[in-house]
Amino acid sequence: MNAEAKRWFPNSMPAPMVDHHTLPWWQACAEHKLTAQRCTKCNHAQIPPAPICSECRGNAFEMTELNGKGTLYTYSAVHQPVSMEQTLPFIIAVIELDTSGTPCKNSVRLMSNIVDADESELAIGKPVEVVWETMSDMVSLPRFRFS
Ligand SMILES: [Zn+2]
Repeated sequence: MNAEAKRWFPNSMPAPMVDHHTLPWWQACAEHKLTAQRCTKCNHAQIPPAPICSECRGNAFEMTELNGKGTLYTYSAVHQPVSMEQTLPFIIAVIELDTSGTPCKNSVRLMSNIVDADESELAIGKPVEVVWETMSDMVSLPRFRFS
């Protein structure tokens, strides 16, 4: 994917909160693999991973790798700095992830950011693809750009 270690957000951003349910998702991210937690009983996909399937209340899961594609579901452009190092505006976005080609029975939404785009390019439903931002040896975050 992006061989160069591109950065869009400053190191001063807080690290993600990880627990034993979300750890497999973050470990996959560290390997630049975008996944969803899939219930092995009903194939419902969910992010973030949780102890119980929100569809059937099952508690057996597999992490399913997704193709990294999706569409822009909704967004907000942020013009007020969170940190002095932050480039403005930055785009907070909800991405509807494509689960085609997997056993997952539903698409799944992920809150992330749109990068490498002007605010004027933003449009609901526009196709996006994942790009990875390596924050440290152990943490990579999925961001999205228009594909
Ligand atoms: Zn289920």
